[in-house]
Amino acid sequence: MTAARVCVLGPSGRMGGAVLEAVRGRADLRITAAVDRAGAGGLGATVADGVVATSDLAAGLGACDVYIDFTEPVSTRAAAEAATRLRRAAVIGTTGLAAGDEAAIAALAEVAPVVFAANFSLGVNLVLGLVRQAARALGPEWDAEVVETHHRAKRDAPSGTALRIARAIAAGHGVDYDQVKRHVRDGDVGPRPRGEIGVATVRGGDVVGEHTAYFFGAAEQIEISHRATSRAIFATGALRAAAWVTAQPPGRYDMLDVLGLQ
Ligand code: NAD
Repeated sequence: MTAARVCVLGPSGRMGGAVLEAVRGRADLRITAAVDRAGAGGLGATVADGVVATSDLAAGLGACDVYIDFTEPVSTRAAAEAATRLRRAAVIGTTGLAAGDEAAIAALAEVAPVVFAANFSLGVNLVLGLVRQAARALGPEWDAEVVETHHRAKRDAPSGTALRIARAIAAGHGVDYDQVKRHVRDGDVGPRPRGEIGVATVRGGDVVGEHTAYFFGAAEQIEISHRATSRAIFATGALRAAAWVTAQPPGRYDMLDVLGLQ
């Protein structure tokens, strides 16, 4: 088997480091490039056998079959634009993307296969299926709320995963999420409207990621929760996606496709 060549973006970051760690010992994937932002601490460091972190995006993408991107929206967009010119496969996990960033990923998916997921863990992807099923069975009479907790350094809120869970609930209710969402409650907001889907955010410490979907019925309550205790689960999922995506035709995929859960 020839190992697919992988370029890691943001090797000095928490997720970039977890990806480099997880790839060691795998026969199907080989790190051939690592690209960080200009001025990043780890530039010049050896991150894998004979691979030094640089800030040369075009060279890094040129030296790979697939790149893995857990960075920031602005660099995710720049990488997608450069990868579109090179037709490079991608595994993208950056969250907090604006519409323009998503459009750059959509343009890449026209010419190359792209796995784009707000959460690469197997458990979370199962939770997405479960909440949708629960919402469909229970209906909007059961008040649905999502609460997420993450470490203090997380920049975007609510988390991309919380939004996907909330959207899965809306899909189960058969409604447009943007018409029923409630991300902030402050002051005299009045009684909770039927069918509203609330998402609340907690930040602190070093929490890797916790998500709970609540369904409040009359005199009974259901909670569907997922807790991540190590970033290794996201890195493992991203590597599974990287090994899978290079064999796919151009298009946009998510982890449900990779795991065969679609
Ligand atoms: P982090 O701040 O630790 O790392 C970000 C990295 O991006 C840094 O190394 C930084 O130098 C690098 N970077 C910034 N600009 C760059 C550029 N122009 N080119 C190359 N690299 C650049 O953040 P983190 O905790 O590793 O998270 C990164 C992103 O991944 C966030 O959006 C986070 O929400 C997301 N995330 C997604 C999942 C998932 O499963 N999808 C899981 C965990 C984190």
